[in-house]
Amino acid sequence: MKAAVLGATGLVGQRFIQLLNDHQWFQISTLTGSERSIGMRFGEAVNWRMETGLKREVAELTVQPTDPKHVDADVVFSALPADQAQQIEQDFAREGFAVVSNASSHRMDPDVPLMNPEANFTHLSLIDEQRRKRKWDGAIVTNPNCTTAVLTLSLKPIADSFGLRNVIVSSMQAASGAGYPGVASLDIIDNVIPFINGEEEKVQRETQKILGAAGQAAGFQVSASCHRVAVLDGHTEAVFVQTEKPASPADVAHCMQEFRAEPQKLKLPTAPERPVMVKAEQDRPQPRFDRAEGGGMAVVVGRVRVDPVFSGVKYIALGHNTIRGAAGCAILIAESMKSLGYL
Ligand code: NAP
Repeated sequence: MKAAVLGATGLVGQRFIQLLNDHQWFQISTLTGSERSIGMRFGEAVNWRMETGLKREVAELTVQPTDPKHVDADVVFSALPADQAQQIEQDFAREGFAVVSNASSHRMDPDVPLMNPEANFTHLSLIDEQRRKRKWDGAIVTNPNCTTAVLTLSLKPIADSFGLRNVIVSSMQAASGAGYPGVASLDIIDNVIPFINGEEEKVQRETQKILGAAGQAAGFQVSASCHRVAVLDGHTEAVFVQTEKPASPADVAHCMQEFRAEPQKLKLPTAPERPVMVKAEQDRPQPRFDRAEGGGMAVVVGRVRVDPVFSGVKYIALGHNTIRGAAGCAILIAESMKSLGYL
């Protein structure tokens, strides 16, 4: 299938290109950019920041305008800034394109699935309602904010086994989460910035949408405190959970280790074998050592222990923000859509 990337020169766009390089089902057909880069060779327009090289045939593609008339694709991956995505993604869906978006613009629309496939595979059925209501053949499906993607994957096995009553999360978010060039080096080196605009609200509402039923937010409470730290890739989260039913740390670690969901059962190409990995070492997970687990698609959990305030559990979760938290999650969504016949 042909795949387009909108906003291909940004950090998430580049991650899409890296992950789609040798994909079994999707092949890059079109790359788009802003006025700055339209008409340039992609290799000239991009400041390539990935760990692996850029393939010559991709570097030679001409950057196209972000306009349905200039895009030839079966699936469109959007890595656009939210203010641009709002209108552009609707234009594509109206023209019949299936858009899988990283932008926040449509995540909370009631008829738009907000997907973290292992956590809420069945929410894809909202596409039918969306098509009926909006009278278009295309679709807009979104992936979560990067912190939410890591959090909800770690919470899903607990929600299934013990139920959730209250969740508190404190994040330590990588610099790449702010895009490129992102936060100025003079602001982030030797520093922690205790504010990311809009992030805490996103984490709170998106977590409830993902872990609720399709079209109905979950009833548990979420409180988030978000912080930017001097790490390149990988968001670390300290999570405190009050469960509905009593759960010991060993119970929680066990249900996380055993957790498998539809993407694993269907053996989707981007699905990690073990979506939640639990480390026994007391000083893990750490971003430098653990962010690449499962090709960057696994969430790595450690230090599962009793929380004395909640009489529940607390743990540390880590996930790769531009893979599980962005491009990798979007590709897994597209694979899920294909497996259900939506592509
Ligand atoms: P970024 O590095 O700042 O890149 C944004 C790119 O969008 C730029 O390279 C720019 O391309 C392009 N762009 C701007 N206006 C455009 C238009 N009208 N048409 C086509 N391209 C346009 O940002 P990012 O980190 O990749 O984030 C992309 C989106 O993903 C954002 O909505 C962000 O909130 C979301 N997201 C990011 C992360 C993360 O960890 N970074 C995680 C989850 C979600 P030019 O170079 O051509 O100007």
